[in-house]
Amino acid sequence: MTITKPDRRLAKIVAVALGAALLLTRGTGWEPLKTAAAQTTTAATSTNLETLEVRPSFFVIAGGGANVGVQVGEDGVVVVDTGTAADAQAILAAIKRISPKPIRYIIDTGPDADHIGGNQTLAKAGERVLSGGGGRNANSMLPIVGVENMMRHLTRLPADALPNETFHYPRKSMYLNGEAIEVLSQPDAHTDSDAFVFFRRSDVVVAGDILDTRQFPVIDVARGGSIQGEIAALNRLVELAVPSVPIVSREAGTIVVPGHGHLCDQYDVIEYRDMVTIIRDRVRELIKAGRSLAEVKAAQPAKGYVGRYGGPGGGETTDRFIEAVYQGLVKEKA
Ligand SMILES: [Zn+2]
Repeated sequence: MTITKPDRRLAKIVAVALGAALLLTRGTGWEPLKTAAAQTTTAATSTNLETLEVRPSFFVIAGGGANVGVQVGEDGVVVVDTGTAADAQAILAAIKRISPKPIRYIIDTGPDADHIGGNQTLAKAGERVLSGGGGRNANSMLPIVGVENMMRHLTRLPADALPNETFHYPRKSMYLNGEAIEVLSQPDAHTDSDAFVFFRRSDVVVAGDILDTRQFPVIDVARGGSIQGEIAALNRLVELAVPSVPIVSREAGTIVVPGHGHLCDQYDVIEYRDMVTIIRDRVRELIKAGRSLAEVKAAQPAKGYVGRYGGPGGGETTDRFIEAVYQGLVKEKA
C-alpha cells in the first residue's frame, strides 16, 4: 500500500516522477532522477492518482487536480483539499487504502473547484468526532473548515459541499491524531480566502494555490487576490518552514506541499518567493517610469523565469501573472 519510504529525499524524487498531471520538470535539475524514481513508484489507480507517504502519519495524494493532504492516526483521517469532483470517488478509495479509519475533518485551502470538488463525496463518507462537549454544530454534517470569504465564491454549490466551519480570524486550531493542526488565514494572496494548514508534529504545511511549483502563482484579482498578499503569504511560509540544518545531508526539515507540483522544502519556497519578489520589483520600476501595461509586458519583466514557470506554451500564464502584478501595484500607488 505504501509507495515510498518516509524519506525526505525519496519523497521529493518520487514527487518529481509523478507525471504530467502533477508537475512540469522542465529546466529543473531533477530530471535525471526521474527514471530511477519511476521504478520506485508502484500502484497507480485508474485515474493516475499516486499516494506518497511523506511522514509516518501524513500522506499526499497527487494527480487528482490539487494535491490532497491526508493526516491519519487514532482519531481518524483529516483531509486537506479534496481534488476535483470527477476524481472524488478515486480519492476516497485512495484514502481508504491509507487508513481504515473514518474521515473526521475536511479543511479547504481555498475556493477553487479542483481543491474543493470532492468535499461533498468525502464529507458524506466521513463520520463526525463525538465531542461530548455540547459545542455548536449540533448537526450531523462532517466539519468542513475554510476561510469565511470562501462562501462568497461558492454561491452555486449545494449546502453539503460548502465549508460549515468557517472562520474570519487569523488562526483556527484543532488537536487531532496527537498533533496540533493550525489553519492559518492568508489574506488577499491567490484569492481573498486562502489558508495554509500546518501540522505541527508531522512538520508538514499544506500551502494551497499560494505555492504552485509548475508555474507563476495565479493571482486572482477578481476574487480578491493581490501581489502584496501573495508575497506576504510566501514570506509567512518561509518563516513556518525550518530547513535541514545543521545536518544538511539528512535532507530533513519541514515539508511544504504546494497546491500543485512537487513537494518543497524551505529552500524551494525561498527560491519561489524570491522569483515572485524580483518580478514584482521589476514591474514596480517600470510603473514608476510611467510605463503602461502593454509597455510593461513588452519589457519582459519575467525574463529569466519564463522557461521554468511560464506554463505550457503561448505565454498566457506569464501574461496573466504580469497583469495581476501590474494591477496590484497600480492600486497600491493610487
Ligand atoms: Zn489549484
